[in-house]
Amino acid sequence: MKALSLRARLAVALVAVALLAVALAALIGNLGLTSRLNEAARGRLADSATHVADIAAAAYKASGGWSASARDELSHVATLDGLHIALELPGGHRLSIGPRPAGVTARAPVLEAARPVATVVVSAANGDLLTPEEQHLARSLDELHLIAAGVAALVALAAAAVLAQTLTRPLRRIRATAERLERGELEARVAPGTEPEMGAVGRALNRLAETLGHEEELRKEGVADLAHELRTPTNALLSRIEAAQDNVLPPEENLAAMHAEAVRLTRLLDDLASLADAERPGLLLDKQPLDLADVARAAAESFSPRFADAGISLAVAAEPAGIDGDAGRVEQIVANLLSNALCYTEPGGHVTLATRVSGREALLEVIDTGIGIPPGDLGHIFTRFWRGDRSRSRATGGTGIGLAIVNELVRAHDGRIEVESTVRRGSRFRVLLPTVDPSRSASR
Ligand code: ADP
Repeated sequence: MKALSLRARLAVALVAVALLAVALAALIGNLGLTSRLNEAARGRLADSATHVADIAAAAYKASGGWSASARDELSHVATLDGLHIALELPGGHRLSIGPRPAGVTARAPVLEAARPVATVVVSAANGDLLTPEEQHLARSLDELHLIAAGVAALVALAAAAVLAQTLTRPLRRIRATAERLERGELEARVAPGTEPEMGAVGRALNRLAETLGHEEELRKEGVADLAHELRTPTNALLSRIEAAQDNVLPPEENLAAMHAEAVRLTRLLDDLASLADAERPGLLLDKQPLDLADVARAAAESFSPRFADAGISLAVAAEPAGIDGDAGRVEQIVANLLSNALCYTEPGGHVTLATRVSGREALLEVIDTGIGIPPGDLGHIFTRFWRGDRSRSRATGGTGIGLAIVNELVRAHDGRIEVESTVRRGSRFRVLLPTVDPSRSASR
């Protein structure tokens, strides 16, 4: 069933309340009036009974008993007063004067020398306790209540229309803004209103719009950065190809350079794929107990030839540090940090890879004696595509994505990363992850 609009629901509720109120008023009014009218009518009937009893007493006295003339007189009174009259005589005899009293009756003793000689019983001749005027009064009260119900329902309908209009105005404003946002008008905002509840919804929508706008900015920046990053190796490749076509450079030298550019392009694409993967909301980690010491030792082993080639010493101080982690992703964290240490350390330098438990956290440290990071750059190094000036040279520079990936993966493991660095002295990257009991860690 289709849900009713707010206006219809308000109308139904208000009309129902109005009708109920009028119906209650009618019920209470009618009950009150009827009982009062009946009370008055009974009083009247009792008075009539006393009056008839007086006349009966006089007639009894005049004719010395219940003679025909006494009964005629009573019959005359019955016709005049619109009553049915009967006399109950001592000994259980009943003397009817015309038709028998029926329905509501009143009684009064007939006294002769203070001695009861009969009891008068009377009832209204037409069977109605109420007079025609009283009946008319009761009917017109019903009519007045009906009119009141109609007027109340109309007023309730009008009030519902006005209320619905007032109540839905802020809702319509919020909806209009949401529709503009949906159409891509990200600068749309809900104007502040006076209603507290709707104001809160409006402010929440405005905050959402701001987040959307910010995300859109980031997306545009990301696309621009990506275009820029792809253009460098692509342009280099193009100029090499043109050089080859023009026979400007010896083919062998040219081919090696083209290969280097293609490798750079592939690395960029690989890094981009890893970053997209790491940034995916709700990244699915295949978590299992593992020891950071094992990961560190394996990484050091695979990196040691490259460190040896670069003339940099690599030391490993691996103490057990159990975590719940995705082995492949944790390996990637260590590999990215090690590869940076390798890139940004001069030959003859030292790199240390350490793991241990520190308080309730498992710690992984990569310490180098490399070029260091200027304090002003420290806030940027985890931003994707950001690269320090000195690393922009193609000789050492990476893609500017490595630390962004590390940051996302550490976050996905509920951990954090800290950096300390001094220019020309070296850097220390610390990854802190929630620890688990090392005895649970599977030795790999
Ligand atoms: P890149 O591919 O350029 O290495 P990263 O995201 O890994 O990208 O690092 C971002 C920047 O942080 C680097 O360009 C470099 O300036 C700086 N950086 C990262 N690691 C180190 C380090 N160990 N020593 C000095 N600078 C570093």
